[in-house]
Amino acid sequence: MIELAVIGGGPAGLTATLYAARAGRSVAVFEGSGFGGQITLSLLVENYPGLGAVSGMELGDRMYAQAEAAGAELAFSGVQRIERNTDGTFLLETEDGAISARAVIYAAGAKPRTLGLPGEEELVGRGVSYCALCDGPFFDGQDVAVAGGGNTAFEDALFLAGRCRSVTLIHRRKTFRAEQALVEQAAQRKNLTILTDTVITDLHADNGELEHLLLKNADGRETRLPVSGLFVAFGRVPDTEMAAALAERDQEGYLLTNDRMETAAPGFFAAGDCRHKQVRQLTTAVSDGTLAAVSACRWLAEQ
Ligand code: NAP
Repeated sequence: MIELAVIGGGPAGLTATLYAARAGRSVAVFEGSGFGGQITLSLLVENYPGLGAVSGMELGDRMYAQAEAAGAELAFSGVQRIERNTDGTFLLETEDGAISARAVIYAAGAKPRTLGLPGEEELVGRGVSYCALCDGPFFDGQDVAVAGGGNTAFEDALFLAGRCRSVTLIHRRKTFRAEQALVEQAAQRKNLTILTDTVITDLHADNGELEHLLLKNADGRETRLPVSGLFVAFGRVPDTEMAAALAERDQEGYLLTNDRMETAAPGFFAAGDCRHKQVRQLTTAVSDGTLAAVSACRWLAEQ
């Protein structure tokens, strides 16, 4: 039995682990695919205050090392199931066996929906990005594309149009989910072209870097679009299935918490991108992790 189990070793989970370990709690963080989370996909992180520019991989490694040095257990092991024991503690089934914990911080994150095209994964950080705010500044003065027709796609396209030479927004249908005001703003930008009824059928790389996209419109006509950046804005899917029986979720599956990161289930906290909130950034994940750890430690002290 440990005092606190953290599920997910991204920035939210590693921050929660660091704070709980420094508060003297026995804490283990479980991560099944790679410590550091989504941030490790960013070639350079330039919006983390105080660090200037740092590679996402290095930042993830540093967060890992700091949590480990604080005395936490970092388990490279995915959690497959969580349930409540009859005494109110939690039972976690992991890839390496079962463990019980008095409290849980759920920080499993959210995954971007991908294009699903061959070569896409290899081009992440080499032209393909799922976060314009994080990676847009690396494409200053260049030609880029945004895929999607929702608010994120339009906000990304407008943000990029302010810094890139040209932006092409590519959407599979004629109508958009995005708010009309955003669509109108985009239509007024001279360096922003909107292609509807169009899908991306191929990503072409040169020397391992994205070089052009192949597009197909509703008539079956194929065109080639030279771009060095493609921002996929197809929305995100929270990784919360495992928590569904324990805590409430919103319509899109994000976990509902109060501003102390408490879910409605006693002893079960949530932090980071898997949580219902307005802004999903590295800095807000770290903030959530801090609050969740402080709340969990307080809760443990009160039991
Ligand atoms: P979204 O609204 O779900 O839009 C995703 C877009 O990606 C849709 O246009 C969808 O096309 C397209 N798409 C998804 N899978 C695709 C595929 N396989 N191939 C081609 N196209 C695909 O996601 P979002 O824009 O990230 O927004 C998520 C939520 O956050 C929304 O509720 C949004 O309003 C909100 N949000 C609000 C703001 C704001 O208020 N300022 C800013 C950003 C986001 P279809 O339309 O054809 O399905």
